[in-house]
Amino acid sequence: MTVYLVGAGPGDPGLITARALELIAAADVIVYDRLIPDTALDGARPDAELLYAGKGGGGPSVSQDEIQRLLLAHGSAGRQVVRLKGGDPFVFGRGGEEAEALRAAGVAFEVVPGITAGVAATAYAGIPVTHRDTSSAVAFVTGHEDPDKPESTLDWAALARFPGTLVVYMGVGRLEAIARHLIAGGRAPDEAAAVIERGTLPEQRAFAATLETLADTAERHRIRAPALLVVGPVAALHGQLSWFERRPLAGLSIAVTRPRAQAGELAGRLRELGARAIEAPSIRIAALPGPAPDPGAYDLVCLTSANGVQLLFERLAAAGRDARAFAGASVAVIGPGTAASLARHGLIADIVPQRFVAEGLVEALAEIPLRRALIARAAEARDVLPDALRARGAEVDVVALYETVAEPLPESRRAAVAQADYVTFTSASTVRFFFESIGDGLSGRALVASIGPVTSKALRACGREPDVEALRHDIDGLVEALVADAIARRAR
Ligand code: SAH
Repeated sequence: MTVYLVGAGPGDPGLITARALELIAAADVIVYDRLIPDTALDGARPDAELLYAGKGGGGPSVSQDEIQRLLLAHGSAGRQVVRLKGGDPFVFGRGGEEAEALRAAGVAFEVVPGITAGVAATAYAGIPVTHRDTSSAVAFVTGHEDPDKPESTLDWAALARFPGTLVVYMGVGRLEAIARHLIAGGRAPDEAAAVIERGTLPEQRAFAATLETLADTAERHRIRAPALLVVGPVAALHGQLSWFERRPLAGLSIAVTRPRAQAGELAGRLRELGARAIEAPSIRIAALPGPAPDPGAYDLVCLTSANGVQLLFERLAAAGRDARAFAGASVAVIGPGTAASLARHGLIADIVPQRFVAEGLVEALAEIPLRRALIARAAEARDVLPDALRARGAEVDVVALYETVAEPLPESRRAAVAQADYVTFTSASTVRFFFESIGDGLSGRALVASIGPVTSKALRACGREPDVEALRHDIDGLVEALVADAIARRAR
């Protein structure tokens, strides 16, 4: 079998190659490093053996000999092995040594390049490593060795004369010495330089300075590894071409308390806008058992959530029925999310209100003649809608399809939520269960964002005034409100 030496890219989960994902999904054994994207192993087979081989960073260190021994043992035992490394495996990744060891032992290997931090973090910081006007060459340099030590194998004087951009990996601990040696070798003290910390990750920070001021700048901003140092006129372009850190929600961490099955959409939107989204579901949807209602026996069927749509169709399917069961009935939904869920089952909603709350639906139904209505919804929903329809003389049946139950927050997520800049709430039940589970654990600094008035009321009942309330009570509206709030706060 083959051992694959695979690059996982610089950190952004979108910058891992298609080939890498394919091999991860097929691997029997994955030997992985610390600096890989935190979602890189999500696609691994459930029965794959995942072996951490990181160095430093808190966990126990695994020596290079030990790593090579592991690769040889698993590779020669006929298993498909992926050796997954941050960035590119052959750029300061010791992939060369691993390939040599495999070759010497007669174990077949292949190499899958990855996007190296030197081009990725720089690109995300708005620094082109070459530029037609100012830089016709780029050198990747290790800053691992102390330039003050006489036995250093790097010739810093020669690097100072290098006619192009220098990108120094593993050098943040030695910025002062590196800059001093480059200046001694002939680079101008006021030459542009930059540091980029955790490039391509939501918490990326980049600072431009000059060779002379860089160490102080990094010190002042407490720059820590992993970080890159860039030296050359291109570093000054960070000021103009920076884009990643200018996205509207950049640098903010935002907790999403919706149930796991629905958190992804909101979290994805927030990430697109630059936020670090923390999925911290506080509730879970538990389907309630019961017979399938007969929607076609009503003039009107009201659906008040995407979950309700899903579970109603599940009950119908269990009874051997499909969308045709709705024939003859009009269908009203509470908002576009519910309408979209309905559309996935082949039905177009007849009525979608202007305001996505039960009161909005009542208004939208005011002109519709009604005799019999079915409301399919959560067990603990408010009675605004059935009460209003009954007051109009309609015969109303309510089917409780599911209840929301608490989803305990794991300890690790609890800490992340406590540090969040915003915590988002999309329903009254997420509010209730969240505060039951986290209690006073929400730091005073976290801002609270609510999807609409019903959720805000639940927040007030828990003693928290919402800092942000969406004008449009759906996911788009919540995201818009967050962006507006973040921009307003930054301007202050
Ligand atoms: N094989 C990796 C490099 C491993 S050496 C690659 O090709 O990218 C580890 C060093 O890479 C770190 O000390 C840091 O200098 C740099 N590095 C890795 N990921 C980084 C990131 N996301 N942002 C900035 N520097 C990073």
